[in-house]
Amino acid sequence: MSANDCDILIHGGGPVGLACAAWILQKFPEAKLTLLDRNPINDADLAAADSRGIALSHGSKLLLDTIDAWPKDCADIHRVHVSQAGRFGRALMTREELSQEALGHIIRYRDIHITLRQALRNIQAKSPKFAWQYIEDDSAHVPFNTKCVVHAEGGLFKKQDWVESGRDYGQSALVGLVEVDDALPHQAWERFTAEGPLAVLPSHYGPNILNLVWCGSPESSQQRLQLSDADFLNALQKEFGSRIGRFLKIQDRRLYELGLNYRKQITKDNEVWIGNAAQTLHPVAGQGLNLGLRDAYLLAEKLAGLYSGSVDKKTPEHIHDALESYASSRKIDRTTTIGLTDFMARIFTSNLAPVVVARGLALSALQWLPPVKTALARQMMFGRR
Ligand SMILES: Cc1cc2nc3c(=O)[nH]c(=O)nc-3n(C[C@H](O)[C@H](O)[C@H](O)COP(=O)(O)OP(=O)(O)OC[C@H]3O[C@@H](n4cnc5c(N)ncnc54)[C@H](O)[C@@H]3O)c2cc1C
Repeated sequence: MSANDCDILIHGGGPVGLACAAWILQKFPEAKLTLLDRNPINDADLAAADSRGIALSHGSKLLLDTIDAWPKDCADIHRVHVSQAGRFGRALMTREELSQEALGHIIRYRDIHITLRQALRNIQAKSPKFAWQYIEDDSAHVPFNTKCVVHAEGGLFKKQDWVESGRDYGQSALVGLVEVDDALPHQAWERFTAEGPLAVLPSHYGPNILNLVWCGSPESSQQRLQLSDADFLNALQKEFGSRIGRFLKIQDRRLYELGLNYRKQITKDNEVWIGNAAQTLHPVAGQGLNLGLRDAYLLAEKLAGLYSGSVDKKTPEHIHDALESYASSRKIDRTTTIGLTDFMARIFTSNLAPVVVARGLALSALQWLPPVKTALARQMMFGRR
């Protein structure tokens, strides 16, 4: 089957596009579906590509478990400690307070990507009309006979070829793997510094090797990228303090530009946008991929509905209705997650005195008002449906 003859065409073989294909085929193995993938065909060629640690929620784990796509290299978070550098206000959330096995899980992007590819290959074996095409660019694949087009091309802020609404926070994230000498196992730290959030998160390598996400202005992040290891570790120690002992080693430093970019309309005629192709978020709340996976799952449910019953529902009218129904079902979750992340990115990067005080009060409120803490944690873990 060629890409020019299919019911559903997915552009983009990142985590969200792969998961969407897998969920559609799991629900309806006979679906005439094509996935256009710009990544290398061999997993080994992806292994060095993107090793940043991603926080996935328990809700995402439950979704990925349904297609057997939960990576084995994963670190669980049991406690999250939130504080402000040099100011009052701190909060501690624990899994016990929320009666959960874990508050979240940290996994390398490449492991999520490769595990999803493997899960889709397993499903592909039972899906006779599924075509997985590896391409270099889109020019040779204009789909003239496609009934529904799903955009999952993803991308990073400032590297996307579309800009609709959003905000440039004037921030970059420096990520890497850092070794310390005295970390509490399963504890995540989020510290709000004068330049932005600094997160130190567990990794599957063991309690003393942690994922670092250090947000700052593009200029100082660039300078930190170029520092010698020793100077970098000194600067980090100064900013983070001594709560987890000394910072001993840093490796695999990478820089990402951060901002918010989102589409107001996520459907148009027979086209729909999901994951980062629909919204790109600041990582302060660790929500981008979690939201994208919920997009993929709910879209797959709506599209699989086109194959149910005895009447042919792959008509333009039915597809239009399915996409409209998808868009309206995503409204509350998208708006809440985009709004909450934007709010956090703005208040946690401001140095205006009233904001700093309000932030301290908000963290104290979180600590002392368990219902507020539980409501926030639930939103982060499961989204809003
Ligand atoms: C520093 C940082 C930290 C983050 N931390 C977290 C976190 O803790 N938790 C969280 O949930 N999220 C986090 N995110 C966000 C998360 O990385 C993204 O939301 C997620 O990768 C989106 O997945 P995606 O599949 O939509 O897009 P992508 O991951 O960008 O994948 C899209 C794929 O499509 C391919 N492609 C592009 N164009 C085309 C085309 N025309 N045709 C075919 N294929 C195409 C690309 O090659 C790519 O493989 C973080 C982001 C950053 C930058």
